Amino acid sequence: MKIIKKISEIKEIISNFKKNKKEINLIPTMGSIHAGHLSLLSEANKYDGINIISIFVNPAQFNDLNDFNNYPNTLEADIKILSKTKCKMIFAPSIKEIYPLGIKTEKAVFKYRDILCDLFRLGHFDGVTTIVKILLDLIEPSKIFFGEKDFQQLKIIEQLIFQNNLKINLIRCPSIRDSYGMSLSSRYSTFSKDEKSKFKKCAQIIDANLLEVKKDFNHKILDNIKKELRSYGISKIDYIEVRNEEDLSLSINNERTRLFIAFYLNKVRVIDNFLLY
Ligand code: AMP
Repeated sequence: MKIIKKISEIKEIISNFKKNKKEINLIPTMGSIHAGHLSLLSEANKYDGINIISIFVNPAQFNDLNDFNNYPNTLEADIKILSKTKCKMIFAPSIKEIYPLGIKTEKAVFKYRDILCDLFRLGHFDGVTTIVKILLDLIEPSKIFFGEKDFQQLKIIEQLIFQNNLKINLIRCPSIRDSYGMSLSSRYSTFSKDEKSKFKKCAQIIDANLLEVKKDFNHKILDNIKKELRSYGISKIDYIEVRNEEDLSLSINNERTRLFIAFYLNKVRVIDNFLLY
């Protein structure tokens, strides 16, 4: 497996691929590879082309420096995991390689903004679209793989591709979940034993209420989830909302909707969404 750290090297490799008319499948990640990431790779394996996984903990998308400093950085372990897969290439640049002139972001996408995570993580999505556009320009993939776990991100990237008229197929990949029904996340790798058991309890609260929401959606149930989570010591809940999955508008029924949640378990931000139909 090839590990590329330099922009000059990836440019040369991509230019050779292009000359040989090889298609590229790009799977952008921030590392700390888990089964969720691997499912994106499995999805990519279904298509022709060379799979490139990028691993880059993008400082531009962290609105909180502590969060960036606490984010797991496990490149060696990631390489070990990926070397056992069909992944042939990892692009793992340094911050200096990506942002040689310093970190600068731009608000490129205005759609799907001012709601959900955008209200609570100011500048986060500008950081996301900035890094994704850098990667798309560098790697020129024909397919790019994103997880539905980060649903708002996925919609914003779809819009980025659309706005820029790029001939890139964004492949949506369903969430890979733990045995309690929560989507796996790199952030949860830092949970202590106590936090793990709290997380399990939160998952049970969500799961029990999810059945109710699916049966007969009403706002009382959402309030109930908040109340139950709070009674279990979750003090910071960013949102618990039901939204349409096409335009992300608030919804009062279960048609093509998802339950979107974001809350903090101590320092760790939990985000997830659940199909309601
Ligand atoms: P991250 O490394 O957290 O930035 O995630 C990289 C990509 O993997 C994003 O497209 C995520 O949505 C996706 N991803 C993360 N966790 C999961 C999961 N549990 N199931 C499916 N995709 C995931």
